Amino acid sequence: MNRHDILITYGSEPKTMTRALLERMDLAAMIGDRKASIALKPNLVVAVTPEGGATTHPQIVVAIIEYLQEHGFNHISIVESAWVGDSTKEGFKVNGYPKISRTYQVPLIDVKDDAYIHKTVDGITMEVSKTILETDFLINLPVLKGHCQTAMTCALKNMKGCLSDRSKRMFHTLGLHRPIAALNKVRSADLVIVDGINGDLDFEEGGNPVQTNRMFACIDSVLCDSYGASLMGFERKDIPYIGMAEALGVGEGDLDKAEVIQLNQPSDEAPFHPTGRAGYLAKHTNADSACSACYGNLIHALKRLDEVNRLKNVKQQICIGQGYKQVNDPSKVGVGICTRGLGKSLTGCPPKAIDMIKFIKELE
Ligand code: SF4
Repeated sequence: MNRHDILITYGSEPKTMTRALLERMDLAAMIGDRKASIALKPNLVVAVTPEGGATTHPQIVVAIIEYLQEHGFNHISIVESAWVGDSTKEGFKVNGYPKISRTYQVPLIDVKDDAYIHKTVDGITMEVSKTILETDFLINLPVLKGHCQTAMTCALKNMKGCLSDRSKRMFHTLGLHRPIAALNKVRSADLVIVDGINGDLDFEEGGNPVQTNRMFACIDSVLCDSYGASLMGFERKDIPYIGMAEALGVGEGDLDKAEVIQLNQPSDEAPFHPTGRAGYLAKHTNADSACSACYGNLIHALKRLDEVNRLKNVKQQICIGQGYKQVNDPSKVGVGICTRGLGKSLTGCPPKAIDMIKFIKELE
């Protein structure tokens, strides 16, 4: 796997999907030294289970530990810190990490109890976890989801869990974007494996998950976030910390240079229309056996259009799903290769939300 590669897999079994990514990238060869210390950094921002769309599925962590131990790597730790005011230990507990720790003899490190080292980048001084800074190989395991202040959170922002609570508060007073970029200049991940199973539509604490049933892996955290943004229907400029991190030399976010390697095709059907805040978006869709990844992208695309008050211009329901494979109807419009028999159709399997937005705007 090289820095421009993005490996993506679809499915609903995080453990199996993680294993497929690890085998394909040949993680053991990437790390090399069996004595290397390896930190796994999930997202446990709040003490809830992954179904709500906020936290990393623990089976991803289990799959990585099993893979690493099978390949002779035994210096593994799980490192995280909940947001200010919440308990990391409670997050570990509700997600079953004490049992994982006992079963695999892997320590749980609560960054709130860790020692910190002061680092300064771009005039911003921050307290960074000593464990993280001393780790040889850092595997970041973010959830791709919305965020009320930065619009989106993925690899770059998940590193905020490597800070003291005092520095987290300071990051908020500085508006998050510049400090997030600076933090990743101090230490960014050696590998990112993104939980894109059911990240939240617009809030990092979850509550409104959108099932997209995918995971993807990147070496470059900037490229990772650039790709994640496109899946959620954002332009890179909508997420300023991506460009700021690129300017600091953390990585390169140009998706034209990326090689997206799709390990399998999406297949499992979106089981329900979104509820809650996302429910009103569903009335603009006409789904028939739509894959989760495709349907989730469409929900994100419609959300972006709603944010700029253009959803009202969507006069026709957008068809989507495998049920349209045999349908030839010039009066309908649809997204995804399955709808190619309709009057207007966006190709792709699945198309990205950013491409869906352009397509839908052209229908106006
Ligand atoms: S284009 Fe069809 S097969 Fe491909 S992801 Fe969408 S619904 Fe599934």
